[in-house]
Amino acid sequence: MKDMEKSILIAGIVIVAIIAGISSAGLIQNGNDTNEMDVANVENPTDVSKKVVVTTTTNVITDLVEHIGGDNVEVTGLMGPGVDPHLYRPSASDVKKLQDADIVFYNGLDLEGKMGDVFVKIGREGTAVWAVSENIPEGSLLSLDTAGHFDPHIWWDAELWMDAAKVVATGLKQYDPENSQTYDTNLEKFLIQLQNLDEYTLEKMDLIPGEQRVLVTAHDAFQYFGHAYGLEEMAIQGWSTDSEAGIREIQNLADEITERKIKAIFVETSISPATIEALKAAVQDKGHDVVIGGELFSDAIGEKETHEGTYIGAFTHNVDTIAEALK
Ligand code: ZN
Repeated sequence: MKDMEKSILIAGIVIVAIIAGISSAGLIQNGNDTNEMDVANVENPTDVSKKVVVTTTTNVITDLVEHIGGDNVEVTGLMGPGVDPHLYRPSASDVKKLQDADIVFYNGLDLEGKMGDVFVKIGREGTAVWAVSENIPEGSLLSLDTAGHFDPHIWWDAELWMDAAKVVATGLKQYDPENSQTYDTNLEKFLIQLQNLDEYTLEKMDLIPGEQRVLVTAHDAFQYFGHAYGLEEMAIQGWSTDSEAGIREIQNLADEITERKIKAIFVETSISPATIEALKAAVQDKGHDVVIGGELFSDAIGEKETHEGTYIGAFTHNVDTIAEALK
């Protein structure tokens, strides 16, 4: 670079610096309340007014969005602990929460069986609507019937939940590209936690003798869990809770439990324990002393601010409960 060009460049830089100095000095000198607020907003990108407003369905998905969105999102979940998503009908205020959101994340695969039309409607009205299950390859999904329905309970396979986490990151980045880096970093961190959870579960399930690796619950929420971690899954009801458990189903299952001397059966937090208690009584009538091995989180995780109120905490609780009862 010639000397002349150099001095022009330097002069240019000095002028820009002076202008910048004057404007910032001006801000400070005129420091009335409004200007101070402007400065505060610029300095604090996580100001509440700038957060991405997200509405989710189950509290399993709420936990996921909180992990990936971190301080940049304000998440409202429609369903709390103990709520059964198969039967959940949105109230008028739920619909408003969905309409008011910047992004909606739901499970899909018909988990929210009574809500399908609502998602279509709010999607058409302009809200970004994402099913967290949408990127799971069909080959990884478990079929329910020949009509093309798949089991929706994907979150009990930590590896499949990694796919769900990636969908959340994609959705947030698309809406809020400025914070892409943060979402990617949060995603990476969560994927490592899920990887560790996957390994922990495999180790724990290894403690259970082969003939006891059977998970008996009220409804079919753990097929992915069984598939991923080597347990056979048996349930009184099918994949949805939207049907009455028949006396014949209970008797058939009681026969099998007795014959195979299965030690424990499990209650679910989002389903009345009545059917599992009826099953226990039927097995005991046949002379086999089966116990209720504990309570498992199936379609919802626990209360906020508790260990089981996080997906990883609830998952670990299930794993420890199952291993303890069947080992
Ligand atoms: Zn379910």
